[in-house]
Amino acid sequence: MKEKSRVKIAAGILWGFYPPPLKLRRTRKRKFMTKILKIVQEKDPILRKKAEPVKNPGSPEVKELVANMIATMMEIKGVGLAAPQVGVSYRIFTTNIENKILVFINPEIKDFSNEVISFEEGCLSVQKVWGPVIRPKKLIIKALNENGKPVKIRARGLLARVVQHEMDHLNGTLFIDKAEKLFTIEENKGKEIKI
Ligand SMILES: [Zn+2]
Repeated sequence: MKEKSRVKIAAGILWGFYPPPLKLRRTRKRKFMTKILKIVQEKDPILRKKAEPVKNPGSPEVKELVANMIATMMEIKGVGLAAPQVGVSYRIFTTNIENKILVFINPEIKDFSNEVISFEEGCLSVQKVWGPVIRPKKLIIKALNENGKPVKIRARGLLARVVQHEMDHLNGTLFIDKAEKLFTIEENKGKEIKI
């Protein structure tokens, strides 16, 4: 990680723990200060585990985790983040594509298109490595949203790509297992997306 982003994340963590003024705390009983979470890296065994379904999707604990995941994803400019990447083995991921944030709890992919496409992927949990991965172009996914309500989404383009990368995270798979080839940051010249 670059020095600059480390400083930014450290500032985020400090802010996360900083107590809000008393008045604010009283008026926003059900709100919480978001925290920037640490991204676990490739060697961590949690990334190789099948994540557990969430039993209480509407609970304050899950809401807090989701809020922290969104804050973290935005802080590090990721387009997607799965709970195992922040050290929590739950079937949850978030996406942030063209400023639209989506939350997927207990997601299930219901249908894939036959048409596939190769696209360059990177991962927040695998530093300095990128590579093209072939995946279906479109899909239909069912999940619970941040309020625990069922949603069905038809995904295409970058969203379909990110959804599949994150589903893999929930099943203990990394993109490096599927990439046609791998290369380093120097060769890639910053074209990559971080998921
Ligand atoms: Zn990833």
